Amino acid sequence: MTDPAPDLLELRGVSKHFGSFRAVDEVGFTVRAGARHAVIGPNGAGKSTLFGLVSGTLAATGGSLLLNGRDVTRLPVHRRVGLGIAATFQHSSLFLPETVLENVLLAALRRAGAGAGAGTGLGGRRKAGARAAATARARTLLERVGLPTRHDVPAAELSHGERRQLEVAVALATEPRLLLLDEPAAGMSPAETERLTRLIAALPDEVTVLLIEHDLDMVFELADTVTVMHLGHHLTTGPPDEVRASAEVQSAYLGTTEVSS
Ligand code: ADP
Ligand code: MG
Repeated sequence: MTDPAPDLLELRGVSKHFGSFRAVDEVGFTVRAGARHAVIGPNGAGKSTLFGLVSGTLAATGGSLLLNGRDVTRLPVHRRVGLGIAATFQHSSLFLPETVLENVLLAALRRAGAGAGAGTGLGGRRKAGARAAATARARTLLERVGLPTRHDVPAAELSHGERRQLEVAVALATEPRLLLLDEPAAGMSPAETERLTRLIAALPDEVTVLLIEHDLDMVFELADTVTVMHLGHHLTTGPPDEVRASAEVQSAYLGTTEVSS
């Protein structure tokens, strides 16, 4: 018998209050290693805020976050990246004047600890070697996300869908154990969404995926676990079929005018 997969991420009563407003209120659930775990909920549910708490761009006002049993609640973003947490955000964080390849390369070099600029302490030859390896890796990743012919184009010239694909490549370049994707299919054409879905499905098990997505077809195609949030609260976490059938979930969606679409 094999042991069940251990929890990679555990949220224990995590909160983010902005003054008296409870954007995320005592949310608790776990994410298994290797999971394809989706977080859904109407607009304003607190999904993006929750991701900020996990990635470290936002500081929790309560509760704690454990990565592999280690408390990361107070760690800054770069330390969490070093522990394997990578995120794409609802609002892009690309270097728009840089080329597509350079965007991925910078992330890969940061991960390799070589740095992009001078003064990293590496010898010239070693540094050139690290850059060559990172370039090869960046090219592979661009192929994987479906941008094999766009290497030399400034990121600013990409279509919206292509930018999202590039963001995924940038996140993967950091070799994450936990990949956070905040509405990666937003603004994508059906063909781009389809390609992204296949890409996420094909990621190796070593990459655990936590995904916020409005496209419920994509969620139910990809996810093995679904968490539903509503008004800052955790409603339920479970297998997709159970969640889809849940009366509580239905009322959360039907009870708002702005239903995720
Ligand atoms: P979702 O991603 O589920 O649509 P968000 O996490 O973006 O929801 O937002 C949850 C709620 O928190 C929203 O009502 C939003 O207006 C509020 N909120 C988000 N960021 C801030 C902030 N910096 N200050 C005050 N309120 C915020
Ligand atoms: Mg959001």
